This record gives sequence, C-alpha cells and structure tokens, in this order.
Amino acid sequence: MARNRFHVKKGDTVLVIGGDDRSYADRRRQGEVLEADHRAGRVLVQGINMQVKHQRRTQRHPAGGKAERPGPIHASNVMLVCPSCDQPTRIRRRVREGTRVRVCRKCGKDID
Ligand SMILES: [Zn+2]
Repeated sequence: MARNRFHVKKGDTVLVIGGDDRSYADRRRQGEVLEADHRAGRVLVQGINMQVKHQRRTQRHPAGGKAERPGPIHASNVMLVCPSCDQPTRIRRRVREGTRVRVCRKCGKDID
C-alpha cells in the first residue's frame, strides 16, 4: 500500500487557498478530493479548476460534445477541512494501533 504522503486524500473535503490559475480565481472554495496523485503532488477537487473536455462521438456519448472535469491543482493550494470541527486546519500525525492517523490541530480529533 502506498504511503500517505500528503495531508489530504481521496474523499476529504478541502478548502482551496491559492493557485495562479484564473479558472479558480474565485478562491476560498471548498470541494471534495476526487483523486490525490501523490507522485505529482497534485489533487483533483470537485468543482475546482473546471476544464472543458471536448468529447468525440462514441457509442456511450452519441451526441459527442463537451464535458467539464476538474483539472489538477497543487496539493499545497488546498487545506484540509476537519470533519469534526468543520474548519480548515493543519494536521499533525500520531500512531494509533500501529497506523499513522491525521489529527486536527484545531480540535485535536482524529481525522482518519
Ligand atoms: Zn477539527
């Protein structure tokens, strides 16, 4: 199993705090992490940095056309939103029953 190298992972809610792409110029938006690419240091966040992909006509999409999908943003541009206290927070880690878990620095609750 791959080691969890950043503060966020798939399924987390995150707050977008930066980035220079104009398509997410409306900063401070929250979304769910759809993918976390630990090697590239990038994440896909629902509704953030949406990009239009033009689709070819296929059997599944007989009309072809456009589909919007989130584009990758750098992991340093997102902050984890703690599911317990609902605030964007930094994390620390601790070991619980042999696995490393993330802990909210604001409320002290385990996140994983
Ligand atoms: Zn918290």
